[in-house]
Amino acid sequence: MNTSQTRRRRIASLLIIACALAVGASTGVRLAAYGVPFALLTACVLGIASSSLWLYSHIDAALTSTTHRCRAPYCTVQVRMRHVSAADSLRWQEIAAAHPTHDTR
Ligand SMILES: [Zn+2]
Repeated sequence: MNTSQTRRRRIASLLIIACALAVGASTGVRLAAYGVPFALLTACVLGIASSSLWLYSHIDAALTSTTHRCRAPYCTVQVRMRHVSAADSLRWQEIAAAHPTHDTR
């Protein structure tokens, strides 16, 4: 991963964290209007922020990852990778296609 890609990843990570905190804070502001106790408000905000962070991180991972699956019928072997070069991606694609035993679970 070169410097530009690293910078882009850091910005995306910061945006994901900022969005998760914004969702948590938004919920906290709405709950505070109803006089929710501070301890309960804190628990709700942290829970929603962490759930949002988990969701956004998984969406980011799904959008930026590449998956290579074995092409044998009923074989469940797959290789998932993120932020790899084209040469590495090709190498892992070949490994996924030519592994020694096909898993048919
Ligand atoms: Zn296989």
